[in-house]
Amino acid sequence: MDMEILHAAKNKEDEIITHSMQIVSILPSLDPHRSSQEEYSVKEEEPGPPHEALFLVLAYLPLFELLAMSELCRSLKDAVNKDVLLWLDIIVERPLNLRISDEILVKIASRANGRLRNLALMNCVRITDDGLLKVVEKNPLINKLYVPACTGLTPEGIIRAVKTLTEQYHNLKSLKINGIYNIEKEHLEMLRYCFQKNPELQEKQKQQPSLFIDYGNCSAFEERSCSIDMDICPKCSEVRIVLDCPRETCEKKRERPLTECRGCSICIPRCEECGGCVELEELEETVCADILCLDCWLQLPKCNFCNQPYCKRHANQQCTAPDSIGWVCGVCHAKFVHKFGCD
Ligand SMILES: [Zn+2]
Ligand SMILES: [Zn+2]
Ligand SMILES: [Zn+2]
Ligand SMILES: [Zn+2]
Ligand SMILES: [Zn+2]
Repeated sequence: MDMEILHAAKNKEDEIITHSMQIVSILPSLDPHRSSQEEYSVKEEEPGPPHEALFLVLAYLPLFELLAMSELCRSLKDAVNKDVLLWLDIIVERPLNLRISDEILVKIASRANGRLRNLALMNCVRITDDGLLKVVEKNPLINKLYVPACTGLTPEGIIRAVKTLTEQYHNLKSLKINGIYNIEKEHLEMLRYCFQKNPELQEKQKQQPSLFIDYGNCSAFEERSCSIDMDICPKCSEVRIVLDCPRETCEKKRERPLTECRGCSICIPRCEECGGCVELEELEETVCADILCLDCWLQLPKCNFCNQPYCKRHANQQCTAPDSIGWVCGVCHAKFVHKFGCD
């Protein structure tokens, strides 16, 4: 199983690999068929019941690890499956996202016993409209529904799910649908219409600028977000993620009727770190080719060789510099360090 996960991860970006490696490093210790014995020779002895502390940890585990835990032994399996509280917020992300099917999702969600509060399916490409609807019908109290880049879903399917959630109850507060194909203005209008049944929400939405940082950690159910993540860009009129500018000087501009730097990422390039708008002529060079404003560029640590920074999202690609402090970027590492054999 861990090999498969590793294989799937290889095809994705580097950050996934790092993440999967963390999980894979946990899995073998849970796998009774593990071949290398030396680290785990303890298991020769008859295993006792799990330590009590382990049960306390369960509430903090990501889904993948929770499922792995439930495979460990009977008492953990019972603890995991019978505790409804562990299943009220379900986040499906890497590496489970590529494997999870409608059937598995329905099964996992059923453990919430109809009380599911938050559901995040991050880039779960195998989930279809039917699967989502089944979960939503059984869990009418969902607060936050995140399905970004679930490319098996259609705008119509999402509308059906949202209608189901807003018909009787008004619990749905936040919807993330960025990356679903073919969302048109009329779909967005229909979704907004469903949301408008909740007047409290409407008020909140008006007061809230959408800032870049809100999108940084999409899978966490942050409290403040209450709305639909997509909007119609005032510049190009396409349905996209439309952001406001967090800069103070720009905020002043926003008070004026002409909202200068509100727009989608194509119309307005934004700094990867602070979300501020960046003029094309003031773009600073980075190793990862992400956009940074001058302020953020100056603050980030630079590669010893090329003096370019990574943005924080890609900082894990720094290689340690041989015999010196600081670090070398991947490009320079391949070019110089390998070549001269200082590695
Ligand atoms: Zn635009
Ligand atoms: Zn910046
Ligand atoms: Zn701005
Ligand atoms: Zn470099
Ligand atoms: Zn970057």
